[in-house]
Amino acid sequence: MIARTAMDGGKGMVITIDGPAGTGKSSVALAVAERLKFDFLDTGAMYRAIGLEAVHRNANLEDPRELAFIAKHCKIEFEWSKHPPGVLLNGDQVGHLLRGSEATRAASYVAVVPAIREQLVQQQRAIGKERGNLVTEGRDQGSIVFPDAPCKFYLDATPHERARRRVAQLRARGEIVDFNEILDQIESRDRRDQSRSVGPLAVPQDAEIVDTTNMTQSQVVDHIVDRVRSVKV
Ligand code: C5P
Repeated sequence: MIARTAMDGGKGMVITIDGPAGTGKSSVALAVAERLKFDFLDTGAMYRAIGLEAVHRNANLEDPRELAFIAKHCKIEFEWSKHPPGVLLNGDQVGHLLRGSEATRAASYVAVVPAIREQLVQQQRAIGKERGNLVTEGRDQGSIVFPDAPCKFYLDATPHERARRRVAQLRARGEIVDFNEILDQIESRDRRDQSRSVGPLAVPQDAEIVDTTNMTQSQVVDHIVDRVRSVKV
């Protein structure tokens, strides 16, 4: 039997998976959600969607007020019947555009604007309430958005290993990349994620840290699923 959270009115269970970039969080969270038949929420996609809108509107990414204004007029919705859920921005399918370099870069500006974080945190909590059983991944899910979640995980891996995975991924796509450059990018992104004043990347209280450095993705998924199933009401 699976535990239920106090925060979601007893309707379901929220599992949080946080951690730095390159730990395989998204793929792991999606696979865990599939195995448990839970919904999957990719919160990075919400920051990316606002970043994409800011790019489309030629916004000044250095101006938090302009970004917050844009965010207020962004309607982000998920198509829960799809796996992974489709992402709609003001009614348009944007899932395929969110991992591009422009949205990725813009998202890192969006993510440091307090008013936008507040807006997305509210929406994420509402999704938790509405969907019930949810695997959600990001940077602040266990620490800020769902502090009462009964199962929290923090995935980690050495920067060297995360860079190695990223390089392999990019090379598989035919891109020519330099290992040290990717390692530098990962380390500076970690510093930015950890040092921002709102919603910084941190190990949530009560989270289990899973060091994935020497684990395959399916080992990580098995481990998390076993843990969740062992939680009693
Ligand atoms: O996880 P992903 O790479 O898709 O995240 C995109 C951007 O959104 C990153 O800059 C990340 O720091 C930020 N983010 C965040 N809080 C979350 C999820 C992502 O600040 N819950």
